[in-house]
Amino acid sequence: MLEIDERSDDFHYLGETAFEVAKLKTAGKAFLWGAVGIDYAACPMNCDFCSFGEKWGKIKEEKIYTREQIAGDVKEYVKNKVHYIVFRTTQFYSVKELVKLVEYIRREVPGNYELVLNTGEFDKAAADAFYNAGVRGIYHAIRLREGIDTRFNIDERRATLQAVRDSGLKLIHLVEPVGEEHTSGEIAERFLESVKYNVSISGIMARFPVEGTPLGNRRRISDEIIAKLIAVTRLSGGDTVQDICVHPASEKAVRAGANVVVVEKGAIPRDVEISDREWNNFNCADAITLFEKNGYVVDC
Ligand code: SF4
Repeated sequence: MLEIDERSDDFHYLGETAFEVAKLKTAGKAFLWGAVGIDYAACPMNCDFCSFGEKWGKIKEEKIYTREQIAGDVKEYVKNKVHYIVFRTTQFYSVKELVKLVEYIRREVPGNYELVLNTGEFDKAAADAFYNAGVRGIYHAIRLREGIDTRFNIDERRATLQAVRDSGLKLIHLVEPVGEEHTSGEIAERFLESVKYNVSISGIMARFPVEGTPLGNRRRISDEIIAKLIAVTRLSGGDTVQDICVHPASEKAVRAGANVVVVEKGAIPRDVEISDREWNNFNCADAITLFEKNGYVVDC
């Protein structure tokens, strides 16, 4: 399916089928994913696509968000129907500090939202500590060309995925960051391995070119290609994958089976500037309109 030409009739059939399956599997429910990048800081891991890489010299002045600032963003998201509230950090943010932050946010901001962390590597004890503090999901991924475009040992990423699988936490793992050079085989391999770790939200994230990073001169893949990959992940996840997330959001991707879209602010690995407003001019109201226009009810 990954080899289907986006200009062919088969592409339309693939998308329509995935959209129908999505409506059945999700019972017509869509979700907003609201991320807050909580540390705008140089990261020594130097991934070839990330603006935070220390070596790329893009971060001139570091900014670590206070818990009060983060609580303000969480309240805004909750008011605007965000279900998954995600704290994203660079690789070496302290586990202890994250636990304290989550406890604080849970006290300060009531609601049915699910808290998700996207941070560095951790073991089962840390996973349990996150769960007990009120975290319900972890975003963690083996990225495409992990160990080639990144400085990671892929087995260290696997160990974290295993810790999540062994805990009460949900795993969220998109296939990412997809660029024009990635083959169908590489994309399929990343998706299928994430299914083995019981991924509950899968999907596709495109790579954004960040000027001055080693992959900054590569074009972003088109919305058509993203929609095709979304359709394939929607149709291939069996009963393991419940929800399909796309970043960046588009109507094409929603009509090909995505029922989760990302709104983000703060420190953004796709940008050299900090984003005090919703990044890329895509806010919660836009996300709600996108889903409602396509027959979904936004659940929060
Ligand atoms: S992607 Fe994560 S680990 Fe890699 S440089 Fe950026 S913050 Fe660090």
